[in-house]
Amino acid sequence: MKDYFIFFDNEFIRQSEAKIPVLSASSQFGLNVFEGIRVYKEDKFHIFRLTDHLKRLQNSLLQIGLCTNVISEDSFLEIVKELIHLNEINSDFSIRFTYLISKIDSWSSMEAPTFFIAPMLKEKNTVGVKKSAVIVDTKRISQDSMNPKIKCGANYINGRYATMEAISKGAEVPIMKNHMNFISESSGACIFMVKEGKIYTPSLDCDILESITRDTLIKIFQENNFIVEERPISEEEVLNSNELFLCGSAAEVTPIRLLNKEDNEACEITNFIFHEYHNAVSGKSYLNFGWITSINCKY
Ligand code: PMP
Repeated sequence: MKDYFIFFDNEFIRQSEAKIPVLSASSQFGLNVFEGIRVYKEDKFHIFRLTDHLKRLQNSLLQIGLCTNVISEDSFLEIVKELIHLNEINSDFSIRFTYLISKIDSWSSMEAPTFFIAPMLKEKNTVGVKKSAVIVDTKRISQDSMNPKIKCGANYINGRYATMEAISKGAEVPIMKNHMNFISESSGACIFMVKEGKIYTPSLDCDILESITRDTLIKIFQENNFIVEERPISEEEVLNSNELFLCGSAAEVTPIRLLNKEDNEACEITNFIFHEYHNAVSGKSYLNFGWITSINCKY
């Protein structure tokens, strides 16, 4: 992995130079909140749904008790421009924007956090072959104990267990249920299913992250006169679905198939939303939603 310049503790330094104490609450207990923000290179760099990512980050900070204000959108854009310049980036990439505790402290730390903004190279997905998925026994964390709506490092251990279980069962990705036994989400991505031309996705009360991509897809579907039902979905419904796909800033639209189920479905709706999502992120359509922040910059 290339040793990119990042912005850490108010300066631009090489990623390898960024240090936090091993006994900090972030290093020991995963106390951090973050966003993964995609940037698509067209004639300009298009940052996708930046305002919504910053809003969710602010919300995560408040809910986990790290009381600080996220830097302004303008400051963020200035930093990103400089990172593009310093790293000579000329392609799609992703930005990891993380608030963390960089001092030695306990898990209950109320210290003001610091932040880093780091570019990571990431190409657009291709439709490709469907990933294999399995419904796992590992349950999604619950709103009553460890709020899944907070994008916090420690919450990802839940996704780790689920992925380990999926791999041990011969699949690539897990599908988790919540404590009520309804379908929740995958590890790091939300889920949609299609049955007889109708589209369904677990509602926000099913212990999912309030995914920005999920919201984008719902709006694109509605714009094209499809009806999307947001409601609790049972395991049986998923097992009997015609199409399944995951979505997320990193996953974009990822078609999946259930392990041990014969899969000869056409995938018409998945292909449609895959292409429309790419049109949206690259600024070819859906401009009226105001999802794109363009930066005009050349290194
Ligand atoms: N669920 C989880 C647990 C995630 O980590 C992510 C990735 N951020 C998603 C869903 C998808 O969210 P988004 O579309 O906002 O990237």
